[in-house]
Amino acid sequence: MPTFDEARKMILDSVGPLGIERVALLDSLGRVIAEDVVAPWDMPLCDNSAMDGYAVRAADCANIPATLQVTGYIPAGGEIAGNVEPGCAIRIMTGAPVPPGCDAVVPVEETDDGKETVTIIAPVKPRQHIRFTGEDIAGGATIIQAGTMIRPAEISMLASFGKAVVPVYRRPRVAILSTGDELIELGEPLTKGRIVNSNALSLAAAVQEIGAIPQILGIARDNRESHREKMLEGLKADALITSAGVSAGDRDLVRDVLDELGVKQLFWKVDMKPGGPTAFGTYQGKPVFSLPGNPVSTMITFEEFARPAILRMMGHRRVLKPLIKAVLQSEFRKKPGKLHFLRVKLTAADGRYLANSSGDQNTGILKTMLTADAIALLPADRTSFSPGEEVDVHILSGNVEMMEG
Ligand code: AMP
Ligand code: MG
Repeated sequence: MPTFDEARKMILDSVGPLGIERVALLDSLGRVIAEDVVAPWDMPLCDNSAMDGYAVRAADCANIPATLQVTGYIPAGGEIAGNVEPGCAIRIMTGAPVPPGCDAVVPVEETDDGKETVTIIAPVKPRQHIRFTGEDIAGGATIIQAGTMIRPAEISMLASFGKAVVPVYRRPRVAILSTGDELIELGEPLTKGRIVNSNALSLAAAVQEIGAIPQILGIARDNRESHREKMLEGLKADALITSAGVSAGDRDLVRDVLDELGVKQLFWKVDMKPGGPTAFGTYQGKPVFSLPGNPVSTMITFEEFARPAILRMMGHRRVLKPLIKAVLQSEFRKKPGKLHFLRVKLTAADGRYLANSSGDQNTGILKTMLTADAIALLPADRTSFSPGEEVDVHILSGNVEMMEG
């Protein structure tokens, strides 16, 4: 049985970025750019003013106050209006191209704001308040490297260079299959012994949250025909995630039927809790995740295994959340042997994170998933954890905004 780290490595080693598609600039937000982008021109394109003021020759202002004759005006977006001759100044607005002859711009606040003549009242250094051609980006330089995630800053840069269409990695279509005779679909009447197929929706939400495309396949009933039919459909997607039917029950058919359909299983149990009965395989290079059915286990194993794999398929380079240190606030005991994933509430205090158990850690208790902001990783070999000791945690998706303090 692999350890958690071994299992996750096997998964990540078997997936890679999908193909490339070209999308409108704004649609590239949150996606990963698939090719290097080179600046087609200098930015700025010409020397221009960084201030509203006067374009001058610094040498004319060596002794202040210095009075210069105003011989022109260049608004933002305006044309250059002649040279700056010795003893003269041209009124200029921010962003306007600086005229020949000038080597400095004096902000209007450092003048008397004159119209015919202007008096400069503060010292002037050559080159001051001019943005020079190519000082931000030189034409031909690589502005964004393949593998970068597009944020508003990248959108700004791409837009500045006229890139209306961006090459990004394709979003994987992730098929989601629930298994079990006890399941009903959302909206159907609930009777004793039945449960709503909530896993399909929590998985679809988690897939959608990271920008991939969920495809809900519905429910495979606890017989081989039903499993086969639904799984064949699911294996057409870029990835397949099943839930339940992977423990030792006599109706747990997932592994058997996946084998029969030619899915190459890499492991079918992991040394972790919750999530022990998680299986993983590949089919024609596509990942197939068989997650446990318990809603808490389903969500945690998605978070720990499927999420990073799908992110990698989308071209992301960093797919694992950083582990941060948090100070455990209560005692916790466990058996040795398995890595435990503890649902915790995090609060920030004096520059540290404090981790409180979010409540009953039984995997049947869904409500403690709602009160959790983060998952604490309690090492396999340890058995008891004391208040005040530091543990590794990672924040659950979407939870930074929900944390207290
Ligand atoms: P199993 O592995 O099939 O024995 O399922 C484990 C537990 O997960 C059982 O209590 C199931 O009722 C529950 N479960 C299975 N599938 C779902 C689902 N799609 N939505 C919510 N709970 C589920
Ligand atoms: Mg079942």
